[in-house]
Amino acid sequence: MWIPVLLFTLWTVVFFSARYAFLRWRRWRYQQPARYINEIRGIEYYRNIGREQFERLVQQTLKAGGYTIFGEPYVGRSLQQGYAWKGGKKYALAHYPDNPLTLEDMEELSRKQSRARADQVLVFSPFPRAPGSRHPGVEVLAGSKLVDWFSVLENVRPPVTPLPDAESCDCGAPMETRVNRAGQYLLVCSRYPDCRQMRKPEAAVAGAQAGGGKKQEAGGRKQ
Ligand SMILES: [Zn+2]
Repeated sequence: MWIPVLLFTLWTVVFFSARYAFLRWRRWRYQQPARYINEIRGIEYYRNIGREQFERLVQQTLKAGGYTIFGEPYVGRSLQQGYAWKGGKKYALAHYPDNPLTLEDMEELSRKQSRARADQVLVFSPFPRAPGSRHPGVEVLAGSKLVDWFSVLENVRPPVTPLPDAESCDCGAPMETRVNRAGQYLLVCSRYPDCRQMRKPEAAVAGAQAGGGKKQEAGGRKQ
C-alpha cells in the first residue's frame, strides 16, 4: 500500500527539484553577456542603445534579409522618399523609439504609408507591446517579434553606449560595458571569459545611461 505513495512522493520531489534547477539555470544563462545580437532575448536592449545604433542594426538586418536600400527609407525624413526594396515590393520604415505605439499612431502610419507610396511600412517599436494593425500596409515589429526579427544577426556584436565607470575589476583589468541575454546593460571584466567578474551598473550610472539615450534621441524628430 505505501509503495505507490512512496513512489509518488519520490517522483514529485524529483520533478520539482529538476524544475527548480532548470529555472535557476535559465536565469543564470540570461544574465551572461551576449556575444552576438541573436543571443539577446530582451526588448529592453533595443530601447537603450540609442537611435543611431538601433537604425544601423535595422540596416544590417534588412541587408541580411535580401532588401536593397535606396535613399532615405524612413517615412517623412527626406523630401525624396527612399525605400527598402525586396521582391518587387517597396517598403518604407518608421521608428518610434520614445513611446509605445498608440492607436492614433497606427492611423497616422496608415496615412504615411499611402503618402510615401510604399507597399508596406515596417514600424519599429522597441517596447513589449503594440496595438494590432488593422491596416495590411502597416507591419509593426515590437516585443518578441522585433527580437526575433533581429536574430538573423548571428555574427554581429551588440553595440553599446559605454557607461562611465571609474572602477576596475578586482583583478585590476578595466570593466567593459556589455549587454546580457536578457537585454540589460552589464559591466564585465575586459578579460572575460578568463575572468568572469561582472556586475549590474549602479543606479546613478544607469541614470546616466538613460540620459545618454535621451540626448541621442533629441537629435531628430520621432518618426
Ligand atoms: Zn577581472
